[in-house]
Amino acid sequence: MHTDKIHLDSPDVGELEKKYLIRCIDSTYVSTHGPFVSEFEENFSEILGCQNAVSVQSGTAGLHIALHELGVGPGDEVIVPVLTFVATVNAVKYVGATPIFVDVDLLTWNMNPDKVRDRISPKTKAIIPVHLYGSPCNMTELAAIAQQYELYILEDATESLFSKFNGRFTGTFGDFGVFSFNGNKLITTGGGGMIIGTAPLRLEHVKFLVNQARDEKKGYYHSEIGYNLRMTNLEASLGLAQIERFEEFLSKKRIFRDIYVEHLENIDEIQLQQDYDKSETEWWFNSILIDTDRTGKNIPEIQSELFKKGIPTRRIFMPIIEFPPYFEKNKDRYSYAYRIYERGLNLPSSTLNSESCIKYSVQELVKLL
Ligand SMILES: *Cc1c(COP(=O)(O)O)cnc(C)c1O
Repeated sequence: MHTDKIHLDSPDVGELEKKYLIRCIDSTYVSTHGPFVSEFEENFSEILGCQNAVSVQSGTAGLHIALHELGVGPGDEVIVPVLTFVATVNAVKYVGATPIFVDVDLLTWNMNPDKVRDRISPKTKAIIPVHLYGSPCNMTELAAIAQQYELYILEDATESLFSKFNGRFTGTFGDFGVFSFNGNKLITTGGGGMIIGTAPLRLEHVKFLVNQARDEKKGYYHSEIGYNLRMTNLEASLGLAQIERFEEFLSKKRIFRDIYVEHLENIDEIQLQQDYDKSETEWWFNSILIDTDRTGKNIPEIQSELFKKGIPTRRIFMPIIEFPPYFEKNKDRYSYAYRIYERGLNLPSSTLNSESCIKYSVQELVKLL
């Protein structure tokens, strides 16, 4: 057994976060009104090189309000990957539209652009690419499809903060890009999200909608039906500390990636999740496919053996059409997503780990096979 606790995806928070939280409490600006939220939005957009960013309560809320702002609603279809976290797809339902699922490709585990083309109909309004576990989607091809058919792109960049495709940050390609600061993401605010967008007026309108559609110049006057999806200053304070540390997080994550690649690239039974040539991926999670036919052990068995050695793992997302609200009987269309689900595993990737935790984890994994 390894002496240090090994973390799968635990948040990395410490002294700086404490200091900024105390500063927030001392200021009494703990709620949505106060200086820290806008400071966090400014720092975030500066690092991403975009004009503006609007903070929200969660990534899920960000996806929801972005679809709403794009006017996606009942009668519209939205193309989504079948292999994602359920929040991507629930957001489509929140606005009353219909999710249309597509399979992923076996190397990057991301939405296959050819399959997207196959499922476009006169009702299609938008595409939601999800950059799974940090690996960017092929945004060149998806943008070309969107342009050809006049579709919106809403990027679910909740897992891919700082990953680049073709030299550009994920989240900056689409009409909107949404990030998450949930506890297990690259940086956390406890819970929260951020929206960026290519059209400044639309983004401005999102900011207005998430603040109860309140026209502050007229006091408590509301010209539309708004929402309360605002981030609090307590959350933003945590975010301010985390964003100061993003380079530290990224350099640790890159070292972890190198360790996994070094130990796994020549193991026949294991295939690491890949990225496209044009990608500069910041791997949020390191994930693998295991040839379970050759190992003779299925994924739950491998997980429990690793767990006994103190190594936490997580299964890949179950294809969304397995869930009752989205159930589809015919699964042939999604053979790669099923293959990845049945053979895939997320490995310890939290920045709380030491290099030796990661080395121990990967060595034990190899021994097991
Ligand atoms: C985390 C995540 C979300 C939702 O973000 P929250 O901040 O937890 O609401 C959406 N989509 C994907 C792919 C995610 O991983």
